[in-house]
Amino acid sequence: MLPGVFTLAKIRRFVKICQKRRKFVYGILNSPGTPSRKYLELLVLTHRPHSISCKFALRRVRTELQALMFTAQFTPITFQRTGTKTKRHHSFRIQALDAAQPFDDESKLRTTLEQQKALTIGVIGFGNFGQFLTKRFVQRGHSVIATSRGNYSEKASDMGVKFFQDADDFCEEHPDVVIVCTSILSTESTLRNFPLQRLKRNTLFCDVLSVKQFPKQLFTQLLPDNFDILCLHPMFGPDSGKDSWKNLPLVFDKVRIGQDSLRAERCANFLEIFESEGCRMVEMSCEEHDRQAASSQFITHTVGRMLGTMELAETTISTKGFESLRSLVDNTYNDSFELYYGLFMYNKNATTELSRLEFAFAKVKSELFDRLHERIRNDVFDE
Ligand code: NAP
Repeated sequence: MLPGVFTLAKIRRFVKICQKRRKFVYGILNSPGTPSRKYLELLVLTHRPHSISCKFALRRVRTELQALMFTAQFTPITFQRTGTKTKRHHSFRIQALDAAQPFDDESKLRTTLEQQKALTIGVIGFGNFGQFLTKRFVQRGHSVIATSRGNYSEKASDMGVKFFQDADDFCEEHPDVVIVCTSILSTESTLRNFPLQRLKRNTLFCDVLSVKQFPKQLFTQLLPDNFDILCLHPMFGPDSGKDSWKNLPLVFDKVRIGQDSLRAERCANFLEIFESEGCRMVEMSCEEHDRQAASSQFITHTVGRMLGTMELAETTISTKGFESLRSLVDNTYNDSFELYYGLFMYNKNATTELSRLEFAFAKVKSELFDRLHERIRNDVFDE
């Protein structure tokens, strides 16, 4: 048995590489499990399988896949040859042969593996961003429960999520991971009133706040010592990460992860969700995050808000630069003002960056006016 579950995109990439290297590709696609997940199992033989043993061919495939950094599992079922003998190079044709049945051995094994890795993730704050993350968690096969100030029962049930208006009920479900997705401003009061004592004693507690030093400090103060703490900041949102998370940065700081291997594994399992979605994983201290985010994210939001306030309209002669300014407005102006205020209030580096921006604007403006004044004076005094 070889490792794997492949997305269609990965399969296509693999096949393209095989074709480029002029290898014959023989394959079986087996579309198992929940159709909505669009996963396919793939069995591919490269080179000339009639001239080498099946075992050898499979070993080659494994090496190829490992080289391509695939780590999944797949199972040989049967082989289909594609193309004709007379052609010099056979064309590749994917054939879906047999949908995996739940009673197949490989399906059972896969289910067991998935169940072992599946986490129960508890989302606190089921607003815009909480729902955005939840969709991916569910797609990845994790079970999600949620709680929020408002009532999101219907929305949650549409997403296959159990919603608890009552925080006690939520905690008594004993999620493996709790992820705080509340607004920056409300996080402290939410946490102070949260029945943390009802959670499992070794819960992994995370947050996705756009500032990092503040939740780190809050968590270490308020959470019991036996909770693990992982601070995250997905540097993207429902607009920029709508279609794919590929190459989008995920900043994380393992603030406190217990020594035992199960805790480390759980943390790795959780981070793997983002990794598998293609995020660029950036391990960074919360303090460094805030330093860098003040001069990048906060400034981006400030400029976006300023331009949004100006209500820039589309023109018939818009340049590319102007179009990027408008898209900056779209990317920032839709976020709640509360979020923006949180970026300012809870990042101690933000004030300095705001002053620098103000200073830069004043400097540019004074350069313009100085030049203008000089010309006028020259005219006045006939110089
Ligand atoms: P948000 O306005 O920052 O937060 C909305 C969430 O906060 C909702 O779940 C809301 O609960 C909860 N909330 C607000 N006031 C509350 C209060 N007084 N008491 C209890 N809960 C309260 O918008 P968001 O975009 O969903 O962001 C959520 C978090 O994700 C923020 O910390 C933000 O920094 C972070 N984040 C956002 C993005 C993004 O692009 N949007 C990206 C990365 C990280 P109810 O809906 O139940 O009222």
